[in-house]
Amino acid sequence: MTQSRYTGRFAPTPSGFLHFGSLVAALASWLDARAVDGRWQLRMEDTDPPREMPGARDAILQTLERYGLEWDGEVAFQSQRFDAYASVVDRLFNMGLAYACTCSRKQLEAYGGIYPGFCRNAGHAREGAAIRIRVPELTYRFTDRVQGEYQQHLGREVGDFVIQRRDGLYAYQLAVVLDDAWQGITDIVRGADLLDNTPRQLYLQELLGFTQPRYLHVPLIVQPDGHKLGKSYRSPPLQADQATPLLLRALRALGQDTPAQLASATPAQVLAVARAQWRPERIAQRTTVPEADLH
Ligand code: GLU
Ligand code: ZN
Repeated sequence: MTQSRYTGRFAPTPSGFLHFGSLVAALASWLDARAVDGRWQLRMEDTDPPREMPGARDAILQTLERYGLEWDGEVAFQSQRFDAYASVVDRLFNMGLAYACTCSRKQLEAYGGIYPGFCRNAGHAREGAAIRIRVPELTYRFTDRVQGEYQQHLGREVGDFVIQRRDGLYAYQLAVVLDDAWQGITDIVRGADLLDNTPRQLYLQELLGFTQPRYLHVPLIVQPDGHKLGKSYRSPPLQADQATPLLLRALRALGQDTPAQLASATPAQVLAVARAQWRPERIAQRTTVPEADLH
């Protein structure tokens, strides 16, 4: 039996610029693929036009290029995949695996994000309703390459979840699973903020007959004051002229060595060395970036 060739991906959402946390995820994903001569694909997760920031797509592509994170083939755009998503939603709905939900946000407020199943057997029409997938009363588990064993009981901890919103837009959970399978992704390397989304994705993969990829969730970058570095909190866009120092900081956040002579290297040179020395087993489950490495 031949093992399919490593295919990784980076899947930014164009709701903002890339920040340091996204660089850490992109770099880990790129290195993990390139260290084994694997492929690395880029997918723009532009499923939500109202939340897209004008100019963000181009800026993201440009930043990746400037930082030397080259991808293979064409960029995939989720906004061009709506027909594929629609046919899967139709199929799941027609099979009774998904159903229409008319609950308002207000009605669900008291349930802490776990859907209480109000519309499960209501037989609502699809028009103007969200579509939810029925989850089984089962625990989904996997072994993450950095975070170790992770498990979640879908019925108790998540509940039936939305795959298509009331406004017709497709949910991340559905799009990501369909596109990872469509692009032949064998390895998913991404931020640990998505760890608790993974069991939902495992369930959809199982339901749709897809192969389960391997997972590596890189630590969230926590600032010295305890705040997560994210889109909403003090996350300056990555500057093109800071590529080398920021790549070195990102490597340190991933537990990798950064030989002193790399300080004056080009981004491509930094990446070539990092690729040859890549040690994913040195990634910590949690990282606090020293104050000095944030500015
Ligand atoms: N689009 C997601 C983000 O920007 C990443 C999704 C994924 O890697 O599965 O956080
Ligand atoms: Zn409902």
